[in-house]
Amino acid sequence: MILIAIIVVLLQVLTVTAFLWQRRCRRLAEEEAARRLADLARAGRFALAGELSASIAHEVGQPLGAILSNAAAAGMMFDNCPETGELHLILADIRRDALRANQVVQGLRTLLQKHLPTLAMLDLNATFHESLNLISLEARRRRVIIEPHLTAANARVLGDRVQLQQVLLNLAINAMDAMDDTPAPDRVISVSTRVVRHGYELVVSDRGHGIPADAGERLFDSLYTTKPYGMGLGLSIVRTIVEVHGGRVSAASREGGGSVFTVLLPSVEQQARARPDSEYRPSAIASMSHQVATQGGIP
Ligand code: ADP
Repeated sequence: MILIAIIVVLLQVLTVTAFLWQRRCRRLAEEEAARRLADLARAGRFALAGELSASIAHEVGQPLGAILSNAAAAGMMFDNCPETGELHLILADIRRDALRANQVVQGLRTLLQKHLPTLAMLDLNATFHESLNLISLEARRRRVIIEPHLTAANARVLGDRVQLQQVLLNLAINAMDAMDDTPAPDRVISVSTRVVRHGYELVVSDRGHGIPADAGERLFDSLYTTKPYGMGLGLSIVRTIVEVHGGRVSAASREGGGSVFTVLLPSVEQQARARPDSEYRPSAIASMSHQVATQGGIP
């Protein structure tokens, strides 16, 4: 009898301990997920600000340049007319103010684009897996099925984990947006990685409305949007991040309807070959690989 009582008590203690342990593990996992989301949100804000300032600098830079050259041309026309002294002063004011405006815009752009990538040796599949975990709730809310095929073997690149996750996040959110009017059972996004010559490809395809017919070259330009509340910055951020990593991104129509976005990322060896003078140089990569090995694994 006493033995049974002891066994029951022990079982109860074991059950309670397992329950507490499970709760602790869940809390830690939730904290980790929240931290990663916050990292992504912060990186997203930097990317948005950087892209927007680059676009403003580009848009405002052109008319400012025109103002400056017109003021210079007018100055030359009046050079030989002694009675236009007042006009000369006005033109000098115009030039000074236009130059000042240009400096302000360029300064803002430099300030907002200072967020350099933090390079680390990454397992591409694990990196993208994490992004998919982060958007799984949103996908469920929108009744979208995400089919991952993250199977590229030994897919290692030197890159910024948060920035590369941002790439997949932006493409996946766009894919979901494009399928707003697609019947629920067909709302499927396929996300795959594959090995290609010199690197790896991330392919995101959806069954949405497809690439807008009028998009053409502008698809990846900042401020191009067809959405009522769109900002037109998601794809230009994708392009900027991919190009910083030495890759490229393209879009095409999917057979059977929808779109396919393909991101090509160079392998570590290809990155070193393409940019021997940068952080991608072989000695830097070797030291990073060593750090990763001694710290026990790929982040
Ligand atoms: P936004 O989402 O704010 O519109 P983006 O730069 O992310 O900005 O996208 C620009 C435009 O590209 C979108 O408005 C849409 O017209 C088109 N687009 C992006 N992704 C897709 C997709 N998966 N399918 C169809 N069109 C897309």
